[in-house]
Amino acid sequence: MEFWKEKTLAQMNTSEWESLCDGCGKCCLNKIIDDDTEELYYTNAACKLLDSHEGHCTHYSNRFDFVPSCTQVTMDNIAELTWLPDSCAYRRLYLGKSLPSWHPLITGSKTQMHQNGMSTQDKIICETRVKYLEDHIVIWPMRNLD
Ligand code: SF4
Repeated sequence: MEFWKEKTLAQMNTSEWESLCDGCGKCCLNKIIDDDTEELYYTNAACKLLDSHEGHCTHYSNRFDFVPSCTQVTMDNIAELTWLPDSCAYRRLYLGKSLPSWHPLITGSKTQMHQNGMSTQDKIICETRVKYLEDHIVIWPMRNLD
């Protein structure tokens, strides 16, 4: 059943909600907000827990023990999480869009997502190796396909 077409976000059970995450890893990138313009910039400096090849959190179930500031995407906060990338499944469904054609729930794997460049795979460095975040601003996380 294509539950993401049949149900609203609020109607989804926990496992459906979790499976919406494509595992792109883009939400795990450090971001900069310009104090003057409030514009958001993504960087390629990733959370120290992000697997740079697979794009998943290496301590997902207990990530808050390591990174207390990590955000859990929920029905209660999705409206406020405007910094999520436009390609994010939660953001897309919240805004009334469909899942993208490369989404793992549609294709059955992460392969197309990676091949289309829609994930962080092999494009990031660990935040612990970064001196100046400003030197790591990138635009590829903003890219959105269909
Ligand atoms: S940006 Fe959205 S879809 Fe991608 S890993 Fe983060 S929560 Fe999951």
